[in-house]
Amino acid sequence: MKKTGKCPKCGSEHILVFENKDKKGKSSTADFEVIGPLGKTIYTSRYVCCDCGYTERYFDDASLEKLKKKYSKFRG
Ligand SMILES: [Zn+2]
Repeated sequence: MKKTGKCPKCGSEHILVFENKDKKGKSSTADFEVIGPLGKTIYTSRYVCCDCGYTERYFDDASLEKLKKKYSKFRG
């Protein structure tokens, strides 16, 4: 969805993007959650399909780096 610009469920190209940056002054509209052990606020961008309502959320790059440093193990 992020890369294709298309909804993976219905194929619509009517995608709304709510981008959120981990910067001061933008937190009022940010989509975020607090990761407990990190004790930090992690900001996410949300992609919403206007036709079927499907949504995806993405951590931003800076948050991904924080998570990778904290959590080194991957399940696979
Ligand atoms: Zn859709």
